[in-house]
Amino acid sequence: MTTYEAVIGLETHIQLNTNTKIFCSCKADSWGAEANSNVCPVCTGLPGVLPVFNAAVAEKGVILAHAMHADVQNVSIFDRKNYFYPDLPKGYQISQFFKPIALGGYLDVPIPAEGDNEAYSRKVGINRLHLEEDAGKSKHAYGKMQVDFNRCGVPLVEMVTEPDIRTAKEASQYLTRLRQLLRWLGISEADMEKGHLRCDANVSIREKGSNVLNTKTEIKNVNSIAAVEEAIVKEIARQIKLAEKGEEVRPWTLEWDDDAGELRKMRSKETAADYRYFQEPDLLEVKLSDKEIANMLKDFPEMPLERCQRFEAEYELPTYDAEVLTADRVLSEYFETAIKAYGGDAKKVSNWVMNDISRMMNDEGISAEQLKLTPQGLADMLKMLDEKKINQSTAKSVLRKVQESGKTPEQVVKEEGLGLVSDDSAIRTVCEKLIADNPKEVESYRAGKDSLIGWFVGQVMREMRGKADPGVAREVLQELLQG
Ligand code: ADP
Ligand code: ZN
Ligand code: MG
Repeated sequence: MTTYEAVIGLETHIQLNTNTKIFCSCKADSWGAEANSNVCPVCTGLPGVLPVFNAAVAEKGVILAHAMHADVQNVSIFDRKNYFYPDLPKGYQISQFFKPIALGGYLDVPIPAEGDNEAYSRKVGINRLHLEEDAGKSKHAYGKMQVDFNRCGVPLVEMVTEPDIRTAKEASQYLTRLRQLLRWLGISEADMEKGHLRCDANVSIREKGSNVLNTKTEIKNVNSIAAVEEAIVKEIARQIKLAEKGEEVRPWTLEWDDDAGELRKMRSKETAADYRYFQEPDLLEVKLSDKEIANMLKDFPEMPLERCQRFEAEYELPTYDAEVLTADRVLSEYFETAIKAYGGDAKKVSNWVMNDISRMMNDEGISAEQLKLTPQGLADMLKMLDEKKINQSTAKSVLRKVQESGKTPEQVVKEEGLGLVSDDSAIRTVCEKLIADNPKEVESYRAGKDSLIGWFVGQVMREMRGKADPGVAREVLQELLQG
């Protein structure tokens, strides 16, 4: 029996988070706005208007290209891609075809271990990145087609991979890493549900070990990373079934129906010739000197994977911790600032960030930017813990109180009297009274029931509403009980 493998290439459309659209001064993001409320003569293509290129789009495109190790071009050109569809009022889309902004590159995608399969890394080649404008949106309602032009002219980067992806899982991991990277770089919200990140998947199969590229299909209209994975799994299965029956795969464009969880044939594939591409006469070339490119990249950050590996090495953190902490750039910076301010055990800081702080962020629905507890505040709180000025459960409640009040941990502890009493005499008074009131327990303890010390410490803690230093309480009790 033949063993097959899948060959997959992804075309992603990434919405850049610039303030304005790519060729006019309409706002770029109009998520949730009333239909056709964010348009002008340029983005709706009225006759006689001229597009003006938004330089911020080039800058974000260059940053993305650099992150993908692509070769940024000193000269790129806009072309018209001609086709008719009601959501495209100009009758063409301004895109790049002959000379895109960047060529080549790759993304290293870690694939986690699963079942018997060990973890590995898939290097996904990038063919090209080009800049383009988005088209509008259309839908059918009440037996009519309705169009909304708000999205016309929204800046996109289209990024096309080489057919290097072999499984549905690799495809979803590629998208997960890409989404992380886009947010890390601050160039896109990268929210698939909002269409900020869209993905078409090209799928074919071949005999395992062969190098041929067989006829592929293209899957469109997938709105989540999980759906991309599911759609690819189904398409691979469909193609293998065809092959086993001796039938051919036709070069179809398939549409994913998320509600039904199935693929439908949309149309037969267009070819480049159908679009009659030609250079956009109303726009200049995009010229970027090496110096301008370098300037756009001057604040380019450390990348998530590098930071993850550095955290493991520099702070001796488990891989799992380093991955969680670097899933989000702000969180990774939060951790690193806190550990520098604290100067103690990095694992302790990591535990607090990954457990209590993350839990609080989840409960309150806030992101790392919205934390009122500053990294310095966390460091101060950990020092109070180390110095036994507060105990573990107080620290947990202080976290939330800081978030509610915006006060520092010290202020909260002081104002609410949450500090631990390690003052011997106060604890001693409580212990003496406890011993006097409980002659039976004292007798059992003295007769050899050592474990009762825990009960005594517990009583002291209760009496002092958790604020006694349990270590001090134990020592004092032992001394008095020996008596
Ligand atoms: P087309 O001209 O049909 O749009 P492209 O060469 O532009 O094809 O490639 C589009 C995407 O399809 C790319 O991501 C590419 O890697 C992928 N691709 C190309 N050939 C195949 C194939 N035989 N099987 C799967 N994916 C492929
Ligand atoms: Zn406009
Ligand atoms: Mg193509």
